Amino acid sequence: MTAVPTATRARLNAEFLAQLGRYDHVTRLPNRLHFIDHFDSFAQAERPTMLVLITLADAKHYNEILRALGMAFSEDFVRAGADLLAGLLPSETILYHVSVLSFIVALPVDDPDAFPAVATHIAAAFAGVIEVNAIPIKTQVGVGLLPVDARRGAAESLRAALVAAQDSRNDPSGIAFYNHKSDAAHLRAFRLLADLPAAMASSDQLSLHYQPRIDLQTGRCGGAEALLRWNHPLLGTISPAEFVPLAEQTALITPLTHWVMDHAMGQNRRFLDAGHPMRVSINASPVNLSEEGFDDALLRNCSQAGLSPHHVELEFTEGTLATNSKRAVQQLGNLRSAGVDVALDDFGSGYSNLSYIAHIPADVLKIDQSFVRPLQAAGDDDFLLCHIISIAQGLGFRVCAEGIETAHAYARLRDLGCEEGQGYFMARPMPADRLLDWLDARGTAGPYSLHN
Ligand code: C2E
Ligand code: MG
Ligand code: MG
Repeated sequence: MTAVPTATRARLNAEFLAQLGRYDHVTRLPNRLHFIDHFDSFAQAERPTMLVLITLADAKHYNEILRALGMAFSEDFVRAGADLLAGLLPSETILYHVSVLSFIVALPVDDPDAFPAVATHIAAAFAGVIEVNAIPIKTQVGVGLLPVDARRGAAESLRAALVAAQDSRNDPSGIAFYNHKSDAAHLRAFRLLADLPAAMASSDQLSLHYQPRIDLQTGRCGGAEALLRWNHPLLGTISPAEFVPLAEQTALITPLTHWVMDHAMGQNRRFLDAGHPMRVSINASPVNLSEEGFDDALLRNCSQAGLSPHHVELEFTEGTLATNSKRAVQQLGNLRSAGVDVALDDFGSGYSNLSYIAHIPADVLKIDQSFVRPLQAAGDDDFLLCHIISIAQGLGFRVCAEGIETAHAYARLRDLGCEEGQGYFMARPMPADRLLDWLDARGTAGPYSLHN
């Protein structure tokens, strides 16, 4: 036997490893690098070519399979998906395995605006369950379509086809073309999340506005809700209703809420020093209350600002009680024992059911705007509102109505015995300096006071 020279062996090893790196180790199919190498040939093909990207399941569903049945089974699941797909493709078509759960094929088509028959077959074949080691598994397949365009390039084409596959989960056909508009929304969300850390670090992007909370019986302002504002250097004003839910999907919600607590408490100390003692309300996300030590951090923040816990209220939403509720309930209890008021925000907009309302760990129920804003003039239906207030009070909660926009709503809620309210009729959220002017100017009663 002739010995292979060392240099040749090293080169063969390198080639072998390079080839190995172009195949997926689970399915042995050509992988993403392989697809990228072949992309130019699709882009230069004479016939129009359609990319069909298939994702077998969303990440959450796949994690559930992993947790319940283990890693080896999960790999069998991916292999079973690959086999089923391969059987549905015309011969000679290469199936690429481009990420753990995603596969792509490039198909010549006659009409780049129509669903190719193969895509319809794939959606139909995966609509039910697939058998993996004799266990029926529900797939959540997504089928995304993107006509090949050389200008887009391989990596960007993969990304766009994946967006289409994700969008297809919201379409009854289970198939979706790449849609620039929905992608623009994804890209904006990504950009906002990428820019949020810099916003927290900068001194002029994030700020808090304060909306007065009024005692409806006396007309006095007993507190204010701190509401986040973001002035993005390039995108302008971004609503918290847009960026807070995004932050909640990531670890950024933790520092964001700490930023709010820190600034709101520091500001409340300044309100106090200016002769306006009040309770400042801070909004917490469900994630915050599921994190150990959130209660201690809030109380520490409060004492560092030189405030008593009675100067702070924490607002939480019904979602908090749905996720990891044991720790959340415990922390809300600890805060209440320490003297912090706790309010359930947007009551009536979520999972409310009558059996749980008695067990809400809160002092205050803030009735969602959707019950209050329709109250524009005498005769407007307030049946539900009356009964919600009466049940809440019967169970010992104080009630705060959100979204009071008219004199009629104000008077009606006061007459129904609702204790507190917030709304544009009395005051919009405003920067701290303006709130101080507003408080100084009005004394104890404001322009909205129906007694004036
Ligand atoms: P929310 O906590 O229920 O706050 C009340 C929202 O209703 C505020 O919107 C406020 O400006 C608005 N509002 C008050 N009175 C009226 C009214 O009479 N009519 C109408 N149409 N709207 C009224 P904003 O400031 O845009 O905040 C939206 C949501 O974003 C908040 O709802 C809250 O869920 C979230 N958010 C704001 N700041 C924070 C924060 O610091 N942390 C967290 N986790 N969420 C926040
Ligand atoms: Mg709130
Ligand atoms: Mg609310």
